[in-house]
Amino acid sequence: MKHSKKMGINTICTHVGEIKDEQFKGAVSPIYLSSSYAFDSVDIKRYPRYFNTPNQEALCRKIAALEKTEDALIFGSGMAAVSTTLLAFLHKGDHIILQKSLYGGTYNFIMEECDKFGIEYSFTKGLDVNDFESLIQENTKVLYIETPSNPLLTITDMQAISDLARSKGLTSIIDNTFASPINQNPVDFGIDIMIHSATKYMGGHSDILAGAVAGSKQDVLRIWNIAKNLGGSLSDFTVWMLERSLKTLNLRVKEQCKNALIMAKYLEANVDIEHVYYPGLEDHSDHELAKKQMRGFGGVVSFELKDGIDAMEFQNNLELIKPSMSLAGIESTMLSPTKTSHALLSPEERENQGIKDSLIRFSVGIEEPEDLMYDIEQAIKKTVKALV
Ligand SMILES: *Cc1c(COP(=O)(O)O)cnc(C)c1O
Repeated sequence: MKHSKKMGINTICTHVGEIKDEQFKGAVSPIYLSSSYAFDSVDIKRYPRYFNTPNQEALCRKIAALEKTEDALIFGSGMAAVSTTLLAFLHKGDHIILQKSLYGGTYNFIMEECDKFGIEYSFTKGLDVNDFESLIQENTKVLYIETPSNPLLTITDMQAISDLARSKGLTSIIDNTFASPINQNPVDFGIDIMIHSATKYMGGHSDILAGAVAGSKQDVLRIWNIAKNLGGSLSDFTVWMLERSLKTLNLRVKEQCKNALIMAKYLEANVDIEHVYYPGLEDHSDHELAKKQMRGFGGVVSFELKDGIDAMEFQNNLELIKPSMSLAGIESTMLSPTKTSHALLSPEERENQGIKDSLIRFSVGIEEPEDLMYDIEQAIKKTVKALV
């Protein structure tokens, strides 16, 4: 479906890419589960591992429209999107610079796989553009960022990073999972490639594992060339589920952002909370930068409990908010990064990233904030009482 530049975000979410049901005139895209297509009647040889079934292509059109790029590709997981993209742009002897405080799975991929491929890597000390520039070597090919970051929600300056990449002939890649295309379009700031764990906001209902990459036709083709060899494509059934989920992406994320800001302010005013991390708060160190490059501040709020209130006990005492891995579903969840997403890091590495045992990552859902506040209050009361 062709769309004008003026088409609104909810219209893009609902309609762009959809397959017209010519046969029965149904309201939604029909689902085509064939893994075998005639090869003599079409120019394109369709096959699910070539990422070109009708439903895969429909979904890619929607994701490209959401990220304002020429093209997109979808994967069986966020990590398939990350690993395939990195291996497309890094060859033996190349060097990549990644920002510190990355998603744990990406960090593990770099630490455990790069040596095997003869790929060199460096992690920045800070998030300033100078921290990247000072690490550039003759063989550097890629700058890799993640903003807002997990779990402390630091903000990296996308324009500064893309300017640096351009001036040195490097490819800039962002993990845009936490923001989602609703809160920021990195391409507006010159970033080349956007990666998503579609398991998170794009899926949004905690029932899909998927990944996506968006970028220029040329860059996506380069990724496709290796993607078909690595074979991390997404099943058409899940593709169809994800297309459905994306129809409400804007509605969900807007509500989650609204609730997250309310909850961040509430937590900040709560005497049992030591510190709150949310880029939408005026006293967040990156608030001004966040305002410059984000339309909304995201649905994740992190906070530290006061000394003496055990983070695990507190989470076990929650009744509505679910202590669980993952994030971005319409239901609110919490987790302790030290026990889960960052458990594989050494205590020194965690300390270096500023991740304390008392830290909790709160993925705010679409429930009424009053109900979330009530749950947090009762869980703190129970935890404190158990102590005395
Ligand atoms: C979850 C996540 C990933 C990995 O995605 P999977 O779908 O679990 O493979 C990558 N980056 C970020 C920021 C994530 O939150």
